[in-house]
Amino acid sequence: RDLVSPEPEGDERAIEAALRPKRLAEFIGQARVREQLSLVLESALRRNRPPDHVLMSGGPGLGKTTLAMIIAAELGAPLRMTSGPALERAGDLAAILSTLAEGEVLFIDEIHRMARPAEEMLYLAMEDFRVDIIVGKGPGATSIPLDIAPFTLVGATTRAGLLPAPLRDRFGFTAHMDFYEAAELEQVLYRSARLMSVDLPADGAWEIARRSRGTPRIANRLLRRVRDFAEVRAEGVVTREVAATALDLYEVDAEGLDRLDRAVLGVLLRRFGGGPVGLSTLAVAVGEEPETVEVVAEPFLVRQGLLARTPRGRVATAAAWTHLGLTPPPDAFG
Ligand code: ATP
Repeated sequence: RDLVSPEPEGDERAIEAALRPKRLAEFIGQARVREQLSLVLESALRRNRPPDHVLMSGGPGLGKTTLAMIIAAELGAPLRMTSGPALERAGDLAAILSTLAEGEVLFIDEIHRMARPAEEMLYLAMEDFRVDIIVGKGPGATSIPLDIAPFTLVGATTRAGLLPAPLRDRFGFTAHMDFYEAAELEQVLYRSARLMSVDLPADGAWEIARRSRGTPRIANRLLRRVRDFAEVRAEGVVTREVAATALDLYEVDAEGLDRLDRAVLGVLLRRFGGGPVGLSTLAVAVGEEPETVEVVAEPFLVRQGLLARTPRGRVATAAAWTHLGLTPPPDAFG
């Protein structure tokens, strides 16, 4: 896997668990989300009632799972974790809902990938803390209503736009997670370096932060690779020079673009003269699913000012040509 892929690799989840902030006060960046969430949680605690259901939207590795765990910790409530793809049948969800403890936090990752019957069951559960269990088949089928304990649903999605409106409307609060500023990632890196006993001076932290694709998961991963390099070649100290040399060696470029980002830009420039080109054409050309290109590569390229989404398709900016060291056709920006 690519070093800067925002998805977790191999046994990375276990390593990440050790670096996860446990309380809201330790959670770095996303200031608005933190503030909004702290109000929701505090008022729920004062009223001694479970808070409204929370939806978190944002790309992979931005801290959605971490925040779900923090919500449960702040409420002093147990946490149950599952994911949309695991809820294939309504029965899968019923089994979970019917065994929730009062006030429990139920985290459903990738909630946009839940099967339809489970989704419909969830509507009623979210609204009335009730499920209808269907017994039997055909005309003889009956539905048995079952009360469930009041709980808080925390849903995570990379694509809030894909959620059906009835589901979206049942969340009391939506947290939009965006890419992190390099300065915020620097703080993430200092914290992780402390926990991992890595000697990380400021210039080294900055060099890693700006190559981390705005994503804490990637920042932590690059820190581990640079630490390895520093231990073998530089007596363990992660200076700017050490970080830059190590990351060049691992082919993480100065703006943190990964293989997919560069492939998307490369195809857009070399094959389509900078665009405009449609998402599916672009995806086929790089050999990826349109969803991967749209959710993983594009948001970062747009944020870096390298790509624009227009009604006619995807278009490369002048900066994209410069970044890949290519010359745009003379009429490109006429
Ligand atoms: P995915 O949906 O792919 O699982 P995610 O959005 O749930 O991604 P997390 O698993 O929560 O991402 O975070 C990935 C890693 O980044 C974790 O190790 C976590 O500790 C770290 N991390 C995320 N956000 C923060 C933050 N705000 N401060 C410090 N560390 C963070």
